[in-house]
Amino acid sequence: MTLHKFDVAVLGAGPAGAASALFLSRAGFRVALLEQRAFAAAGPSWVNAVYAAAFDDVGLARPHGDEIDAADFDVTFFSADMQMRLDVPKPGYVNIRMRAIVDRLIRDGFAAGVTGFDEMRLQQLHFTGERLAAADFIRGNPAGQSGESCRIEAKLFVDCTGLAGALKQQIAAVNSLAANTQDRDICIAQQENCEVSDVDACRAFLTRYNILPGTLVSILGTAGGYSTMSVQVSRDFSEVGLLAGSMKDARYPSGPQMLKQFRGGHSWVGKRILGGGGSIPLNAPLGTLTAPGIALVGNAANQVFSTHGSGVMPALQAARMLSDAVAGASDPGAADVLWKYTAAFQRSMGAMLATYNIFRRFSETLSADEIGKMFRYGLMNEAMMISGIRQQMPSPSLSDGLNALLAAVRDPAFAARMAKALAGMPLVYLHYRNFPEKCNEAEFLRWQRRAEELNATNLSPR
Ligand SMILES: Cc1cc2nc3c(=O)[nH]c(=O)nc-3n(C[C@H](O)[C@H](O)[C@H](O)COP(=O)(O)OP(=O)(O)OC[C@H]3O[C@@H](n4cnc5c(N)ncnc54)[C@H](O)[C@@H]3O)c2cc1C
Repeated sequence: MTLHKFDVAVLGAGPAGAASALFLSRAGFRVALLEQRAFAAAGPSWVNAVYAAAFDDVGLARPHGDEIDAADFDVTFFSADMQMRLDVPKPGYVNIRMRAIVDRLIRDGFAAGVTGFDEMRLQQLHFTGERLAAADFIRGNPAGQSGESCRIEAKLFVDCTGLAGALKQQIAAVNSLAANTQDRDICIAQQENCEVSDVDACRAFLTRYNILPGTLVSILGTAGGYSTMSVQVSRDFSEVGLLAGSMKDARYPSGPQMLKQFRGGHSWVGKRILGGGGSIPLNAPLGTLTAPGIALVGNAANQVFSTHGSGVMPALQAARMLSDAVAGASDPGAADVLWKYTAAFQRSMGAMLATYNIFRRFSETLSADEIGKMFRYGLMNEAMMISGIRQQMPSPSLSDGLNALLAAVRDPAFAARMAKALAGMPLVYLHYRNFPEKCNEAEFLRWQRRAEELNATNLSPR
């Protein structure tokens, strides 16, 4: 068995892992990036929509060249029956080919000194006391019989293995009950870019709903309150991008089934060009993001904007926060050093993600008719949608905005239900903003208990 020693070992080379390795290497650490697939197949294989300007905040170049599938487009939201619509002109989304972005991050990481190991199968973890100290892998042969074995020692291991949570699962300190994602907090989604096989029929579809080519059309609540079917025909009518997602719930069709149904009803959708799918964790971000020797980033930590299942920017932002927090530390895996990451995350992104998660849980309870009411009463308005797309807290303040909106609802029963369900949003926001700044186990446990209570508030009968 060969032995390799690093300051930091990052497991998983999707967006979270590739960015973590890059930032940590640029911060001066000796970093290993370990991926179970070939690097050329790491991370998502589909197209994701991301708010372009968010790349500036983490110090990464905005998507460019072949990384871009579509940019600078309008978005139109429809109710499930296509009767209500909301047009949001050019909110700043860019559709990115995730393979190309992840490749760029991995390449930039190598240029910054990251050592890459792909096709690595995790075998066993080794601890010094309770602290993770080393991990054994077999490299190469997928059958797992032969292949080269190696041991990676590091002061800090970063679990970026997505929902698999390969390290998290084996470390009790970061795998509390709250860390286990339930089915009701999973979205199953599928994205495909396909050829347009019949331009006239495609044009007729767009004309019927008064949509210009290039517009991202998002139909809400087609399969239960938390579900969406998006359709985006390219400006030159050569391709159509389809995205479908819904909760993991036997009562509703899954994303792949919704996409199949759409294809079935629209024969102008031709051969698939690229795509893929998977499960997205929707719950509030984990309270415990670290333990001595380990940090969680990305889907592994539920760092997802759950209202629309977007995890790319939260993953990149968390990766940045981790590297900023540990930069300059002689032991990047020490508890008090890692605390700075958890505190920075919970007080900013965590507060925002957990707050919107209350809305996501409420949205699951909405019927198609109630989603129509959300449009009709102006509860789905341009400012709200833009805040969601940018993954920012709404302005004016959350409680002022909610009160003003609810006053406009001319359906007392619905307004009361909404007011009750969403009353927890400002409380959650404040609670995360007040995450203990200094490493203090007792204070953290009190914070965690209250966070669990707030996140679990019963919103309404399902
Ligand atoms: C169909 C679909 C559409 C989506 N659309 C959007 C969107 O429009 N916008 C957006 O922001 N987000 C979107 N998302 C969510 C987004 O793709 C994820 O949140 C994001 O990819 C999470 O990144 P990650 O690096 O944490 O995890 P992943 O992308 O899952 O990467 C994890 C990596 O870890 C590797 N790995 C797993 N186990 C091990 C192990 N034991 N050892 C080593 N490596 C391991 C995997 O092979 C993989 O490469 C979508 C998701 C889906 C499924």
